[in-house]
Amino acid sequence: MLDYADLDYENLVQWLKAQGEKEFHAKQILGWIFQKNVLSWEGMSNLSKELREKLAQYIRLPVLELVKLTESQDLETYKFLWRLKDGSLVESVLICSGTRRTVCVSSQVGCPARCAFCASGQQGFFRNLRPTEIIEQVLQINKWLADKEEKVSHVVYMGMGEPLKNYDSVIKSIRLLSDPNLVNISQRRITVSTVGIVEGIKRLSTEGLKVNLVLSLHAPNQHIRKKIIPYARKYPLEDILNAMDEYAQKTKRDITYEYTLLAGINDHPDHAHELAHLLKGKQCTVNLIPYNPVAGLRLKRPEKKAIKQFRSVLFGSRIVNTCRYTKGDDISAACGQLALQEKQEKSGLPMLAAGE
Ligand code: SAH
Repeated sequence: MLDYADLDYENLVQWLKAQGEKEFHAKQILGWIFQKNVLSWEGMSNLSKELREKLAQYIRLPVLELVKLTESQDLETYKFLWRLKDGSLVESVLICSGTRRTVCVSSQVGCPARCAFCASGQQGFFRNLRPTEIIEQVLQINKWLADKEEKVSHVVYMGMGEPLKNYDSVIKSIRLLSDPNLVNISQRRITVSTVGIVEGIKRLSTEGLKVNLVLSLHAPNQHIRKKIIPYARKYPLEDILNAMDEYAQKTKRDITYEYTLLAGINDHPDHAHELAHLLKGKQCTVNLIPYNPVAGLRLKRPEKKAIKQFRSVLFGSRIVNTCRYTKGDDISAACGQLALQEKQEKSGLPMLAAGE
């Protein structure tokens, strides 16, 4: 069986010709899948039954099956649990905020990064998602939103997995998502978040893409970073920051640094001073995320007072920063945390932690 994301227009034309079919069906098929979010061959009403049967035999569609949909009480966050054809499970989160419809996609089953505070890597890494399995998360949610006459406006690669460790599939999915003839989501509305894979960041800056890049920094120095992020041993902080600067220069995009605040580990005012020093002069934003408890981990979220203090040091050093604060409701996947950030953005200044 073939993957539809691997069949671009030319390939599809060739495939159709080989089947003795007319080439104009290629445009129809791509339109059905990527623009009309029709994710079954039977639904493509302007194709003959014979062609639809042939397509069903050769090309997998759909590749995701919805297992569970969980909505937050305020109906702003929806978590989709999908089963892949091999039985693996992955998640996507839809965050509705004002007119924004942001989908947080997974790029791998499990995660090789195994950061100390993150649920995704706890069970290890299983496999990379294929481009089809990444974009179908967006297509399925587009289909779900179509009933309300809405569509996905933003995509963030912040779900399960390390996107730059599944480089080719992630790039391919970005190209399909941003292709004006396909899903048509502007690259400026697409964000890739990385734990700091230096060769991946460097390569990304040569792709000619205008996507936003976020670094999961989480520490003001290499010493602390190594304690909570196993990949830090392979990629020194200095090399990562240089690669990020290069990305910013080449793409003219601002950089965002994520910093998960962990009580007693990286939340002291001295750490804030060190962080401010580290980022001095950079055109960037720091997103602080108070640790969201993960079952089985003995880490702690800092007290509100400590978070305020940390932020005031950053403000004092003119480091632009926001704080996402989760209430630990049922939607606690890594990307679920975006919900509050979006809410704060909507309400104007994202200065105070929600719930305060
Ligand atoms: N591997 C990529 C993308 C997935 S993680 C990366 O490392 O960036 C995306 C973000 O989720 C991370 O920046 C981290 O800040 C956040 N995150 C994961 N688990 C968390 C937790 N338990 N509490 C707070 N933030 C968490």
